[in-house]
Amino acid sequence: MLSKSNKRRRIAADACTTIICPLYDLLPEKMLEEVASFLAAPSRVLFAIAITPPSSISPYHMIMARSRPNVSRSSIAGNEWHTLDFGDVEKELAAKLSDDDISKVLLHIDAANKLKILRLTNCSNMTGAGLVSLSGSTSIELIDLSLVGAHQSPILDPKPPLDCDLVLTILDSIINQGRCQLKHLQFPHMWRGGDYDQFNEFLERYDEMDEMLGDGRDVFVTFGDMYFGIQDYTCSECTQYYSSGRDGEDGNALYFCNTCERYHCTQCSAMVECQTVRTFCVWIAYLILFVLAQVVPT
Ligand SMILES: [Zn+2]
Ligand SMILES: [Zn+2]
Repeated sequence: MLSKSNKRRRIAADACTTIICPLYDLLPEKMLEEVASFLAAPSRVLFAIAITPPSSISPYHMIMARSRPNVSRSSIAGNEWHTLDFGDVEKELAAKLSDDDISKVLLHIDAANKLKILRLTNCSNMTGAGLVSLSGSTSIELIDLSLVGAHQSPILDPKPPLDCDLVLTILDSIINQGRCQLKHLQFPHMWRGGDYDQFNEFLERYDEMDEMLGDGRDVFVTFGDMYFGIQDYTCSECTQYYSSGRDGEDGNALYFCNTCERYHCTQCSAMVECQTVRTFCVWIAYLILFVLAQVVPT
């Protein structure tokens, strides 16, 4: 049994070794929510995880918790999770995220039950173990494992450590679900060379999924030449299904992009290009303002 002084020492030691962001104690919940609302979606979740204490906290923090407002992680990160794209944060940050970080983010938003679209853009540090939080998902419709953004080349050098065995185990747990909602998978370029037997076998299992889905979709993966392992008939952005005729009832069409090796529908492609043009225009506007500031006398 510990004496009172020993207990005090241990509580103090716990307090020193457990790092909790002081924002949690200093700022009201509304202010934290306001700050979070300005962040990109992945940053918002990382922020929520960082500022709130872990579920198993020390006696010191239990005492402190009685005097602090009840800040919930979900109120900061939000509850509406349709799409999570790590391309929404700086490339340098996404490239530093570990499997543990990504697993915590997916757990935090209850991705296995809520998330529909997951893009691991620029997550070049992960092995895929972090995707375990997505195992058996009955909500996920699209997973983009190419690690690059729209219209960027998927040929990466050096090759990322994404482990085929690890990821395929998780994908199998999803496609084996009776209520599987998966509509599109974009695989890493480095797996699509035909050299990975386990990947080739998975493609055959995935290709047979349409029998299970029974919604008229044809999960068709190309098995030949340079397009090996690319899923056809489905837009890689919005998951809209286009039959082999390519033209949809809405007037849009599906085409293959040789740069990012994805299928895009014309509507989604126009949106991506619009964003690029908008970013370019903003930079031009800044440049003009800068030049005017130099020329116009004060
Ligand atoms: Zn493209
Ligand atoms: Zn689309």
